[in-house]
Amino acid sequence: MTLRLRNARLEDGPLVDVIIDDARITSVGPADPNPATEPRRGEELDLAGSLLVPAPAEPHAHLDKALTADVVPNPAGDLGGAIEAWLAHRPTITKADYVERATTAAELSLANGCTALRTHVDLGVDIGTTGVEAMLEVKAALGSVMDLQLVGLVAGLTSPGGAEELALVREALDMGLDVVGGVPHIEADPARAIDLVLEVAGEYGRPIDLHADENLDPASHDLETLARRVSATGFEHPVVASHCVALSMKPEAEQHRIAEAVAAAGVMVVSLPQTNLYLQARNIATAPPRGLTALAALRRAGAVIAGGGDNLRDPFCPVGRADPMETASLLVMAGHLPPDAAYHCVSGGARAAMGLEPVAISAGRPAELLALPSASISGAVAAAPGGRLVIRRGRVVGAARWSADEGQALLE
Ligand SMILES: [Zn+2]
Repeated sequence: MTLRLRNARLEDGPLVDVIIDDARITSVGPADPNPATEPRRGEELDLAGSLLVPAPAEPHAHLDKALTADVVPNPAGDLGGAIEAWLAHRPTITKADYVERATTAAELSLANGCTALRTHVDLGVDIGTTGVEAMLEVKAALGSVMDLQLVGLVAGLTSPGGAEELALVREALDMGLDVVGGVPHIEADPARAIDLVLEVAGEYGRPIDLHADENLDPASHDLETLARRVSATGFEHPVVASHCVALSMKPEAEQHRIAEAVAAAGVMVVSLPQTNLYLQARNIATAPPRGLTALAALRRAGAVIAGGGDNLRDPFCPVGRADPMETASLLVMAGHLPPDAAYHCVSGGARAAMGLEPVAISAGRPAELLALPSASISGAVAAAPGGRLVIRRGRVVGAARWSADEGQALLE
């Protein structure tokens, strides 16, 4: 199928016509001011000067927890309180409830432009693989409109009973789990937990995505340990460290030393401003830290950085809009990234963290695109406008708020 996008605005200003064949961009040329024909319904779309950018992706969600804030309160407001509240609640969740909430949350992300989404999903002896089964169902159901990746989130690998938790990870991998996760900073032996995750991921040939150093303790070493173990073992699959909050609490020289090791190991870092701003530094009244990772040091070292929305209205963060523009905006305000770099974190950086092919508005690249009414990326990050048109694999998959009926026609 061919799709022609007319009068699309590129970030550097010019209006172009973009032709897409099947799932790829085949040409980008100056907009024809006098097209010979009216747009053909279902095949052409006049973007009328809307900004066209590489589609965002969500590299770190928790669809299994999403939209539970009203039934799972977290009065303490910190990470310990959230974990306690969640562990008490999760054995009561039915598969149907998982599927319903996860589908709603994923569709929110899609409507906001994310054509790919990576979700962590809890594994534990108390719930078995119920969450994974539910997320596999959601992944299959949404497979025609977005790409979902599932990360098995397991804790307690180095506690008594750790062998059972590890057996669950293997079971979930056999069921179709995509990525091996973990939470070393709450393990009895963080370094051993990292080694166990590397071993099982290597055995199955899968990527890794760990919740690392999600605390303000300068003595927390998950990120550095992970980078050094990846380098030492020659682990050959993509590795992501999410959060890495503690890095921001270390002296600047140490930040740079660790950031260099992270970049050298090819470990990619996902910053999660919503949840970290909400959960961290609850007990610090004077000059509380922001709780984001050391973005400047990581950028200077050349590490791949992505930005994600993390928790969506659950005990770990009671707010959020599943909108990558909200994440990018927070990376500007709380992380001090320039707006274009912040948008890259939620688009190119996010796709890199997920192991997906890079996107650009040029011939030969995948047609994973977002059009929205804005004159520039910084304007889009600032205003987070509605009226978005989402294109995945060359097909319109989101046009719920597109003002013209042409978008709806393309969806049909
Ligand atoms: Zn998370």
